Amino acid sequence: MRIILLGAPGAGKGTVAKLLTEFDGSVQISTGDILRSAVKEGTPLGKKAKEFMDRGDLVPDSLIMDIMEARLQEPDCRTGFILDGFPRTIPQAEALKSLLAKLSIQLDFVANLDVPRDVILDRLTTRRTCCNPACQAIYNVKSNPPKEDGTCTLCDHKVIQRDDETEEAINNRLETYNAKTAPLIGFYEKEGMLKNFLSLSSKDTVEEIKKALKG
Ligand code: AMP
Repeated sequence: MRIILLGAPGAGKGTVAKLLTEFDGSVQISTGDILRSAVKEGTPLGKKAKEFMDRGDLVPDSLIMDIMEARLQEPDCRTGFILDGFPRTIPQAEALKSLLAKLSIQLDFVANLDVPRDVILDRLTTRRTCCNPACQAIYNVKSNPPKEDGTCTLCDHKVIQRDDETEEAINNRLETYNAKTAPLIGFYEKEGMLKNFLSLSSKDTVEEIKKALKG
């Protein structure tokens, strides 16, 4: 499959993307995960991105497009890919359109995960993430807690609250989403690529996306 997952922070894009990779071997490409690994490893990209990310602001489009131009040409993308957290702005969506045309890649569709704001706020404040860059498993203190000692059930690393998941950063991320990313819904609707999924359960959404891919 070749799809884009759109949706506010906390809409469940990461969880849905991970479940979809099990379906046909397509890879999940999360710009947020790529950036967090770069920050952790202290690479030049990570140093440039960290201050934007900690505030809950978007990283500049030019940095993101450099990452994505290289990533989409890696061999594992040939089976298919699920874009999670990219594009995030109209200029990124326009640059992606040109890049896909250059690489002769056709998208199946853009899946917009629609989740009520109160559900999103609850999810973001209770979310915890494995600090191991190679794992980054997502937990929820209420519905899917890590082990009792606060470590990851998959890799035993510490499970943490992300720097950008403080209340202030969360509010900023939601405002940024409304101002810069929500307009992509109209962009892809005009392109005839958009499919909306009311997404309260990630598992149900995955089944609906699979059905849409088959149909
Ligand atoms: P995420 O895990 O997708 O919520 O991303 C975490 C943070 O990484 C965001 O708040 C942004 O600071 C940055 N980020 C991730 N993807 C993008 C993107 N496509 N464009 C700009 N910034 C991004």
